[in-house]
Amino acid sequence: MAATSLRDEVTGLLQELVRVDTTNPPGNETRAAELLRDYLGGNGVTSELYARVPDRANLVARIPGAGNGPRLLLLSHTDVVFADASEWDADPFGGELRDGEVWGRGALDMKGQVAAAAVTMASLAREGFEPSGELLFAATADEEVGAGFGLQWLCSEHPDAVRCDYCINEGAGDRVELGGSPYYFCSTSEKTSAPFDLHVHGRSGHASQPGIADNALVKAAPLVEALGAYTPERQLVPEIEALLETVTGEVPRSPDDALVLARTISSTLGDIVEPLLSMTLTPTMASASQKRNVVPATCTITVDSRLLPGQDPEEAQAAVRELLGDGDYELEWLEVHGGTRSPLATPLWNAVESFIESRDPGARPVPICQAGFTDSHWLREAFGTVAYGFFPSRTMNPEVAARLVHSANERVPVEDLELGLDWLRYAAHQLVG
Ligand SMILES: [Zn+2]
Repeated sequence: MAATSLRDEVTGLLQELVRVDTTNPPGNETRAAELLRDYLGGNGVTSELYARVPDRANLVARIPGAGNGPRLLLLSHTDVVFADASEWDADPFGGELRDGEVWGRGALDMKGQVAAAAVTMASLAREGFEPSGELLFAATADEEVGAGFGLQWLCSEHPDAVRCDYCINEGAGDRVELGGSPYYFCSTSEKTSAPFDLHVHGRSGHASQPGIADNALVKAAPLVEALGAYTPERQLVPEIEALLETVTGEVPRSPDDALVLARTISSTLGDIVEPLLSMTLTPTMASASQKRNVVPATCTITVDSRLLPGQDPEEAQAAVRELLGDGDYELEWLEVHGGTRSPLATPLWNAVESFIESRDPGARPVPICQAGFTDSHWLREAFGTVAYGFFPSRTMNPEVAARLVHSANERVPVEDLELGLDWLRYAAHQLVG
């Protein structure tokens, strides 16, 4: 076999993965899992497929160790979101390599990291790597929809397959300049998603005689306005305190001071920090009458709401009730997801820090709380795992990358793939070597 560099190996594997259409729904992740199983098997790494239904398999591979050391899981998901080919300048499932970038749906979210983790396993196995504990790789189904075929299901039905002390997942890793110095974001916590429906009640009637009806849509208007204008009480979470202390050298005196400090560094940092200082309430959907000439008896407003990690949902509900006051409405809380955190002083943090220091001297990691949530929370809840979202990138501009995720022309520079692969191999040596 001709010698191939790890850079070519990870590029080629990503191209193959992109060509497997795993748009969720419906997912069809089994084809990606089988591709990975064959690749890993050819490199001496055994893996197993776990599937709730045949088309939606999760793959878990392991390099077992001799001792009782910790278990490190490299976590990723193989499903991707829908791509409208007419918006793209390349085939979203073509996996084309163009000007040093691999193009295709999932290149950033997150088949690039899937490929880097798989090549980490394969290359370490070829080198005879023997972990003190265990090195695991999971490529799971159904992260994007979360209908119970992926990591949530693995944690409840096959906990021994994915139980781990440390986990490296998606979520952050961008290199950013703040106040003239370079930093890499590392996600250590996530906000809680706690959306709700606001049902406003009135009385229906014919629209030609509005006076004898009670229009729920009109009654909803001031409530929607109040939700939009709400400025919740700010709190300072440890992640944002540590972020600002690292970047400014100052400990913020109060949550308001934290926002001022962030804005002094840059308006971008202010925009990032602001929603991480409080819960957010964002009305996003409305439905009322289905007929033009019928005054609606009910109007339903759906509100996207994100709480701070650790914030009590009951307290948030009470705050919303207080904001809206008495009226002909009821609140229906839809679900509560996420909202977990991992500590900042851990061997995994030390590995992130020393990796950045050695590969990009002068740059430092800063913790971030994500406004959205990832699969990390299942592991934190099930096993108390220290889970961070960190896959470093420095070639692609982070603002460009943010626009491409879940959008047209998603692509990843091979330079960043190589850096991510370098990180995962480094972390394996540091944590379980
Ligand atoms: Zn993702």
